[in-house]
Amino acid sequence: MHLDPFELHQPTSLDATVGLATELAGKFDYLAGGTDLLPNYKMHLNLRPHLIALDLVPELKGRSVGRLGAMERLADLEQDAALRRAYPVLDDALREVATPLVRASGTVGGNLLVETRCFFFNQSYFWRASLGFCLKADGDRCHVVPQKERCYATFSGDLAPALMALDAEVELAGAGGRRRVPVGGLYDAAGDGIRRTTLRPGEIVVAVHLPPSAEGSRGRYKKLRVRPSYDFPELGVAVAGRWTRERVDSLRIAVGGVETYPRRFDELTDPLIGGPLDDERVNGLAEEIGRRLRPVHNTFLLPDYRKRMIPVFVRRALREAREGNAA
Ligand SMILES: Cc1cc2nc3c(=O)[nH]c(=O)nc-3n(C[C@H](O)[C@H](O)[C@H](O)COP(=O)(O)OP(=O)(O)OC[C@H]3O[C@@H](n4cnc5c(N)ncnc54)[C@H](O)[C@@H]3O)c2cc1C
Ligand code: SF4
Repeated sequence: MHLDPFELHQPTSLDATVGLATELAGKFDYLAGGTDLLPNYKMHLNLRPHLIALDLVPELKGRSVGRLGAMERLADLEQDAALRRAYPVLDDALREVATPLVRASGTVGGNLLVETRCFFFNQSYFWRASLGFCLKADGDRCHVVPQKERCYATFSGDLAPALMALDAEVELAGAGGRRRVPVGGLYDAAGDGIRRTTLRPGEIVVAVHLPPSAEGSRGRYKKLRVRPSYDFPELGVAVAGRWTRERVDSLRIAVGGVETYPRRFDELTDPLIGGPLDDERVNGLAEEIGRRLRPVHNTFLLPDYRKRMIPVFVRRALREAREGNAA
């Protein structure tokens, strides 16, 4: 596998980046750490002739307890004691991304926008050609759910569920100005699974903002993967909130690694506010979340197994968060 030639652009300000994106509309990708994009390019997946590198854009850098710049490296966040104390669920999730080497280059923005996964897609050009390609790249049908309209590739980022559980927002910049959306709103759940985000053409992720209410919340992220030192999630459960033995004051659960988009289950957790987080409620919640999610057969582990693991992992995450890290 080789990397085809592309033209590399290195803007040095956010305005210049947005200007360039407008000029090259439809013909470029942003390049952050490159740990996802460049392996995909080597497999000839949806190549563009231009790459806009983001490492010289100062507005995308910098971190505090309330703001994570899009170009912050995951390894640096992982070492930040203030962040680890403030958000245990994020601390867990960061440590579960890929390997230390990948985290040394991988960034917050790149992780939120990591390509979805499917074993008919993440393959070399020749492998895919032998099967006639698929909807998501170069073809016109899906090998997982045979039809011609929708892609079911699996959402495989670890940070998004954790940030969704913390009520975080993403700051975006584009030709139309700046805006903020909840992290969950970044993903186009009503879409066709191919164009996987709600980003407008050329829009860039500037930063993630965490609300003051999330600081000091309890939390846990539990991940199912084949090789614990390396692999993408086959299931990722994030739990965050505040509670005492007698009373839940806030609770969010978000799940990734199962469907095409990460999902949060406020309709199930909101009714628990004000009551105790006892075993009966934990079990009920875990089973119901398991019932609502539908994995398909496009990752290493069989969908039936992944589905059966959902309540197990939700229960584990909730119990560990309940009994573990301090309020
Ligand atoms: C061996 C291996 C294992 C991995 N395991 C995991 C895993 O377990 N969990 C996991 O979550 N990920 C995993 N990854 C994927 C990836 O390494 C990480 O998600 C990483 O955080 C991606 O960040 P990056 O900066 O390298 O993104 P890049 O590869 O540079 O970019 C990824 C995508 O995001 C877009 N992009 C990047 N930054 C911005 C921005 N600021 N605004 C708009 N678009 C942007 C790019 O155009 C591209 O489409 C793995 C990768 C490898 C190679
Ligand atoms: S789910 Fe279907 S369309 Fe999507 S990547 Fe897999 S085979 Fe292709």
